[in-house]
Amino acid sequence: MTSVLKIGGSILSSHGDFEKIVLMLKSRKNERIVIVVSALKGVTDLLIDSLKNAELRNDYSIKFNEVRQKHYDALSQLKPEFKERAKKNLDGKLAEIESLLEKAKESKSASPKTRDLVETFGERLSAMLVAEMLSSNGLKAKAFESQDIGMLTDGNYGKARPLRDEIKKTLPARINAGDGVIPVITGFYGADIKGNITSFGRGGSDYSAALIAEALGAESLELWKDVDGFLSADPKLAKNAVLVKALSYDEAEELGVFGAKIIHPKTVNPLRSNNAVLKIKNISKPHAEGTIVGPESANANSILSIAFKKEICLITVRSPELLESGTAAKLFNAVSNAGINIDLISTSETGISISAKRQDCRKAVSALKSSLDEEEVIFEEKVSLISVIGKGMREKPKIAGKIFSILGDNEVNIKAISQNAFENNISFVVEEKDLEKSVLCLHSEFFEKGEFN
Ligand code: ASP
Ligand code: MG
Repeated sequence: MTSVLKIGGSILSSHGDFEKIVLMLKSRKNERIVIVVSALKGVTDLLIDSLKNAELRNDYSIKFNEVRQKHYDALSQLKPEFKERAKKNLDGKLAEIESLLEKAKESKSASPKTRDLVETFGERLSAMLVAEMLSSNGLKAKAFESQDIGMLTDGNYGKARPLRDEIKKTLPARINAGDGVIPVITGFYGADIKGNITSFGRGGSDYSAALIAEALGAESLELWKDVDGFLSADPKLAKNAVLVKALSYDEAEELGVFGAKIIHPKTVNPLRSNNAVLKIKNISKPHAEGTIVGPESANANSILSIAFKKEICLITVRSPELLESGTAAKLFNAVSNAGINIDLISTSETGISISAKRQDCRKAVSALKSSLDEEEVIFEEKVSLISVIGKGMREKPKIAGKIFSILGDNEVNIKAISQNAFENNISFVVEEKDLEKSVLCLHSEFFEKGEFN
């Protein structure tokens, strides 16, 4: 039985975190375990900021020294006999990053290739240090970098697609480190056929771990974090949020896509081919079950969670008369050619509304204006998207009615609505100022009074 364990950046920071990880692994010495790591906490952001500063010809060393310090702090926790080799390795990698930053400063702009290279160094540093940390604590471990083990991609910088069949063929043999040796693999990126490093996009380590689980035919993928699992709502907003103990693949995917920041939305798909079980686990409560995600829906509740995306925009294309039949096609082409993802679509005979990330708003509007003729394009930037994720919602017509009457009673104005055909999601757009109130009143009604669950 093989388990892939992804160790998130949120639990790669303090001495205490590392101790907990070692303890958890020591209690599982008889299992075949493969580890995939994120960068140490905060490091990817710091690398991105360092590069930004370099491109602006500002002093990048302030942010970069923070990167250096975080890794030196981790290094200081190693036993003396492990320190020297790790320090040499660390210094070599830090020097490589620094020379990339220096070059970006000279040329005032970094190529997409350099950007991916800089951003993914966090994982390369962390895989090395985590492997040393495990060895220093009496476990056997070996670090592997994605570009050396056949984590092949299509070469698209910043949003690479994995070549899954190739990965399956190559990766398993390349991470065979010997009996009882735990491979510690870099998450977040792969490399194209020429060896160029290409990232899967922010938060992509979960996805890497799922791809590795798929390639190995692993029975389970565990995502180790500092939270208990999926919750009924973001606990920062809803203090009474409860753990969602079980989800199906589809439900977890939906929650990931619609804003519950627990997993990268692409993580679920690679698990389907082997029916692997996904577990979200809290490193501070290693024996708690967390959330378990499997092929079938194991949750009896009809409303599972309320997710949201705060910073979105709503763009509406409307026509004084009926929309022409080709307008929708033109709209989707224009937005997709501009590289923009759509969250929600809501249509009527005279208008089509879409929601997207707020930062993409102006770009989307100008793409639409240049490809549509008659229609008017209007947009709102201070709006948020809320998704109520559940199951069988279409068969329970009262649920949609209940959602909107609760919101109406609380004087929330709904700007656009969409319900997906799989009947597990009702999404709607509200003004950003109404976001908190909306989530709280829905949560209170569905989870605290429990009428519908
Ligand atoms: N370190 C990367 C990020 O912060 C990837 C990850 O953590 O999943 O986006
Ligand atoms: Mg992450």
